[in-house]
Amino acid sequence: MRRISVFGATGSIGLNTLDLIRRDREAYEIVALSGGNNVAQLVKLAREFRPVVAVLSDEGGFAALHDGLAGTGVSAAAGRTALIEAAARPADWVMSAIVGAAGLEPGLHALQAGATLALANKESMVCAGPLMLETARVHGAAILPVDSEHSAVFQALIGEDLAAVERVIITASGGAFRDWPLADLARATPEQAATHPNWDMGQRITIDSASMFNKALELIETKEFFGIDPDRIETVVHPESMIHALVGFVDGALMAHVGPPDMRHAIGFALHHPARRTLPVERLDLVQLGFLSFRPACEKRWPALRLAREVMRRGGLSGAVFNAAKEAALDAFLARRIGFTQMAEVVEEVLDRAVPQLDAADAAISLDTVLHADQMARRAAGDVIAARAG
Ligand code: NAD
Ligand code: MG
Repeated sequence: MRRISVFGATGSIGLNTLDLIRRDREAYEIVALSGGNNVAQLVKLAREFRPVVAVLSDEGGFAALHDGLAGTGVSAAAGRTALIEAAARPADWVMSAIVGAAGLEPGLHALQAGATLALANKESMVCAGPLMLETARVHGAAILPVDSEHSAVFQALIGEDLAAVERVIITASGGAFRDWPLADLARATPEQAATHPNWDMGQRITIDSASMFNKALELIETKEFFGIDPDRIETVVHPESMIHALVGFVDGALMAHVGPPDMRHAIGFALHHPARRTLPVERLDLVQLGFLSFRPACEKRWPALRLAREVMRRGGLSGAVFNAAKEAALDAFLARRIGFTQMAEVVEEVLDRAVPQLDAADAAISLDTVLHADQMARRAAGDVIAARAG
């Protein structure tokens, strides 16, 4: 039996992960399941999967979780420290699917405990790529990408020599506003931004797809995860979301990973790696599909892409600053304090202000420096947002 933990179990990736586990329930022993503040959902999952411990990061929900699990033998826990303790419990495979920088520390603790970390939480790589890779190396742990684009690149690179890679092309659906007139973007609402043409995902990543902050994070994730030179990383808008990424080699070959937009492919690939097992995803009918289309990724429509280039150029702690500023700007947009297009303006201003103060390019990446940069960027973003919100 494989020992498995799922962090962010109540979210979109977490539920898709448990869907795969449910189909082969006997093969797994569940160590920990975590949720943010959705007590009812976590109780339901814990009653079904019977983990050793169920952890809610929101301490206020402890009593309800405890009562909901009475008589099950599942330990209830709540709060940040409990979450980290749960991540440090020995497990063979751990899904990192908390959203935001909040997912970094649990992932690091799982690596320190030697687990194979299935990494959906792209923010970990953006904020602390070198620390993640080094922690895995020191503890003999593995990190497998779950972001669909990075799973695609990972699969295209199996058996290949990285030195023969000429370019990596990350595709983008373009999100909710890819066909909107530019002039209308400033008035876009959170509800409009939270509808995705192809993928069914959590609210935050869906809005990040409309702004392309999600793609911006993914470009940085590509650089950090695979060690690819930023000049070799391209983005193309591909409205059908059937090709997830392509890897181009020095001999001109271009290897594409093609499949329907269903995260259970990338999750299942990471779950069974290095084997390939049957997965419950739709099989593509190419004739029915007919054609696939591509367009340039316009930096005027999606300034987040230009900012990602800047972050990759600066390196150091600028990824942590970028992500924290983006999270704060997204919160402000959701609270209707700033408009859709102001999110990128806020992030750019924070990068210009906070990064030089941090001497970001030179600073060593440790958990302390990353958390410090994160805090500082959130404070700076708070000031910039307050000035703009008036
Ligand atoms: P989601 O919002 O559906 O779920 C997030 C999970 O994290 C929930 O369990 C929530 O309760 C928990 N959570 C939220 N804030 C928390 C906090 N501060 N502390 C602890 N737990 C907290 O998000 P999602 O769409 O499942 O995405 C999860 C991660 O996977 C993100 O990093 C996202 O970028 C990445 N990802 C998602 C998809 C997708 O298809 N949904 C695809 C690629 C990558
Ligand atoms: Mg992705």
